[in-house]
Amino acid sequence: MTGRSTHTFVCPECRRSIEVDDAMRATLLETGCVVCGAPVTEENVGETPAMS
Ligand SMILES: [Zn+2]
Repeated sequence: MTGRSTHTFVCPECRRSIEVDDAMRATLLETGCVVCGAPVTEENVGETPAMS
């Protein structure tokens, strides 16, 4: 495994699940969901894909 850090974003609104890297994670937190535009919190962008 490399040191590449990925996160699984799950939108609280549209329930869309997206794999994101650190840069994309920051963008999501700043601008909201790319699909529906809902506000995104740290909770929605976890470190590991815990939810099925
Ligand atoms: Zn959404």
